[in-house]
Amino acid sequence: MSAKTLGDSPNAQINKNILGRYATLPLQENVVQATYVWIDGTGMDLRCKDRTLDFIPTSPKDLPVWDFPGHFQGKTRNVETYLQPVAIYKDPFRRSNNILVMCDTYKLDGSPTQTNKRKSCLEVCNKCADAEPWFGIEQEYTFLDFDGHPLGWPKNGYPGPQGPYNCGVGANKVFGRDIVDAHYRACLYAGIKVFGTNAESMPAQWEFQVGPCTGITVADDLWMARFLLHRIAEEFGIVVTLDPKPMPGDWSGAGAHTNVSTKAMREDGGIHEIEKAIDKLSKCHERHIRVYDPKQGTDNIRRLTGNGSTSSINDFSVGVADRYTSIRIPRSVNNNGKGYFEDRRPSSNCDPYSVVEAILRTICLNE
Ligand code: ADP
Ligand code: MN
Ligand code: MN
Ligand code: MN
Ligand code: MN
Repeated sequence: MSAKTLGDSPNAQINKNILGRYATLPLQENVVQATYVWIDGTGMDLRCKDRTLDFIPTSPKDLPVWDFPGHFQGKTRNVETYLQPVAIYKDPFRRSNNILVMCDTYKLDGSPTQTNKRKSCLEVCNKCADAEPWFGIEQEYTFLDFDGHPLGWPKNGYPGPQGPYNCGVGANKVFGRDIVDAHYRACLYAGIKVFGTNAESMPAQWEFQVGPCTGITVADDLWMARFLLHRIAEEFGIVVTLDPKPMPGDWSGAGAHTNVSTKAMREDGGIHEIEKAIDKLSKCHERHIRVYDPKQGTDNIRRLTGNGSTSSINDFSVGVADRYTSIRIPRSVNNNGKGYFEDRRPSSNCDPYSVVEAILRTICLNE
């Protein structure tokens, strides 16, 4: 008997086998179903809509600009928004020639919308191309039941204290692995460079990493990976939250640790380049904190408490193999004298375009 009751997602109760009969219907040659995906006016949520193409596109430039009747923000009237295709992925739901299309958003006058952080990120990435910067982002997130409670947690209490859950295995340690594994495979099929996945410290909390790749690609791919995560969890009737502190108290928050290297850092003696970059970062901690979450740093206040399990939002700190600092130099990097460093400050709900842009402005453009 299922423990599922009134609060359940209707999606979880639909028989998923029926769709398969239609999903395998053959299409005419050159007919492509395209799902346009974009970041909405919250700067956090994604939206999508589908259209039919009568050709097989090979570049985002082949794809039509589309429109969306505005981002609903409070009582503001609808403002038409243009969806500009920027990256194409293989569609793991419909397969074949069908595609997912990451878009950025523009106003009627052609200027980027408030939540389009990609345009300026791309400009900065282009300016820094000679340094060949690479990024790898660790996306932490939490599964919630349809009632908003973390998946698998007792409805009237808490699981046992943290300790056994990180990288855990077993029905009493991790919740939702099917979704994690479906997502991992779907990302790889789509063309997203997933580095790996693991269960996190808080039960129902997980992580996947994207990278290493260039700044604009890591951010495009991370947003599309977030879309796939929400979309796949939807099929299971499970909600994904990227909130940086879903459960108050001693429960771990969620981050988007951002690993960074330039060509010079990856070469012999690169540790000196890493130290120079960290020195630059130390001088503009507040500027970075303001763009490391979607609420000008106020979301991260709940997470970066400095109470013994994270760094403090108010201080800049560095350490080798130390995970309670703003910046960590991995032990292997310190031993090899080259590699990359990890900026642990970005929150799980950050906009990776903003994070990449800020880091490059500081370490490459010396702003
Ligand atoms: P952690 O030990 O902090 O949990 P993970 O194993 O979760 O680290 O993630 C490591 C991340 O580092 C991955 O996202 C990977 O893409 C990234 N990474 C590895 N090498 C480099 C590099 N040279 N430059 C930038 N990022 C890198
Ligand atoms: Mn309509
Ligand atoms: Mn990690
Ligand atoms: Mn982690
Ligand atoms: Mn990390």
